[in-house]
Amino acid sequence: MPEPLHELAAALPEGALLTGEATEPYRRDTADGAEAGVPLAVALPETTEQVAAVVRACVANGLAIVPQGARSGVAGAANAIDGAVMLCLERMTAVLEVSTVDQVARVEAGVRTIELARAAADAGLFYPPDPGSWEISTIGGNVATNAGGMRCVKYGVTRDFVRELTVVLADGEIVRLGHRTVKGVAGLDLVGLMVGSEGTLGIVTEVTVALRPAPAPTAGLSAAFPTAEAALAAAEALVAEPRRPSVLEFLDAGCLVAIDAMIARGEAPGPRLPAAEALLLVQSDGPDAGADVEHYAAIARAHGATLVETADDPARADALMELRRLLHPALRSLRGAVLNEDVSVPRAQLPALLEGIQRLAVDLDVTIVTGGHLGDGNLHPFLAYDPADPDDVARSIRAYLAVIDLAVRLGGTATGEHGVGSLKLPAIEAELGPRVVAAQRAIKAALDPQGLLNPGRKY
Ligand SMILES: Cc1cc2nc3c(=O)[nH]c(=O)nc-3n(C[C@H](O)[C@H](O)[C@H](O)COP(=O)(O)OP(=O)(O)OC[C@H]3O[C@@H](n4cnc5c(N)ncnc54)[C@H](O)[C@@H]3O)c2cc1C
Repeated sequence: MPEPLHELAAALPEGALLTGEATEPYRRDTADGAEAGVPLAVALPETTEQVAAVVRACVANGLAIVPQGARSGVAGAANAIDGAVMLCLERMTAVLEVSTVDQVARVEAGVRTIELARAAADAGLFYPPDPGSWEISTIGGNVATNAGGMRCVKYGVTRDFVRELTVVLADGEIVRLGHRTVKGVAGLDLVGLMVGSEGTLGIVTEVTVALRPAPAPTAGLSAAFPTAEAALAAAEALVAEPRRPSVLEFLDAGCLVAIDAMIARGEAPGPRLPAAEALLLVQSDGPDAGADVEHYAAIARAHGATLVETADDPARADALMELRRLLHPALRSLRGAVLNEDVSVPRAQLPALLEGIQRLAVDLDVTIVTGGHLGDGNLHPFLAYDPADPDDVARSIRAYLAVIDLAVRLGGTATGEHGVGSLKLPAIEAELGPRVVAAQRAIKAALDPQGLLNPGRKY
């Protein structure tokens, strides 16, 4: 065994260092079209101290480190780099504490998002951020990407819930950042810096999140519209409501066709979907959720909805939302691969964004269908392509960057929630400007002078 592998093995329990073919399942996240190298090894630590020992062994041998949660990311940010050590926290799955008095939960970074939500619910509390991937993603990955989800429109994103982090820095030192308390301004906001840093500034091993009292049972509706413009106008009216929806999602005609095809093939539960130009999925978890949903239904009809289905029990409301969760697999099955964007624009620019995307699809001869978190101005244009057709691949990558350029020109951003990873790297300087990119690299150099943590990603 080469010396670095000896040192890594000594830092870990028996069986927690994988090499050779055993590393294959850890080489890539779910992003099609992102490069993945061949790692030296995969480390599967079980404690913060073991994470620190692995980092020290890597530093001593000049090895790059790629932190990993569940590899559900869609930006290539957790993909292997040649010769790197994949530092995967999937074995750190303890829920350490749920405090009903402080309304916080403290968990290890490898806890799946849904397990955190369940632990909170068992104590009569609520962890709102719910990425579509919450059954697989880890809270460490959510922190590192500042993940969003369906309920952000009412509650905010992961950043809004992170109170305190335990982080292993690039020199192997263990630090605690932030405050368990509601308030706390001692020192700079290093938690804010760490959240969304995509594994480039430190390795998160423990997370304390704020919780809320459990909301009322959810009620929901789906509303089909004859035009996307009508759906956007209805959404604008819904967001202006004092009865704030807890979910406001959008599916365009292409999304509906792709999901319906999955249902027709028996790959997803029915009933079949209506043919429509756009569908809104809206929920309320307010104290009078049933009445809220009736009110939302009236707004949808007033804006021309042709078919409105309401569900005042949580199971039926969840079943409607399952459609939304099928988006990624449904679109991938269209052509074999998909580039999944997550551009975000000020809500007033949503009509211009959708119109511009349609124009780009025609001009660049690509397939783009769009769904996502309309209430946040955060949409997922999906570029479905045939990975075996080099022309199609090249056109789709061009269109991917053109959609980002469009969103930035409309006052938005390349990435609302998935992160930059490697896929969006070519677009970042244009959005942030060279001075801001340089400032970010200076912060990176201060915290990781050897540039070992997830190098070549994010900025
Ligand atoms: C079907 C589907 C639906 C999705 N829906 C959403 C959605 O609604 N909203 C959303 O925001 N995202 C969504 N995603 C994307 C993805 O699930 C999120 O980005 C998620 O936060 C990634 O978590 P993970 O544990 O899988 O992290 P990974 O994919 O393993 O890693 C993601 C990034 O975080 C870093 N990282 C991971 N763990 C740590 C750690 N402990 N310390 C430091 N860095 C770390 C990695 O280096 C990488 O840069 C979806 C993905 C899929 C496949």
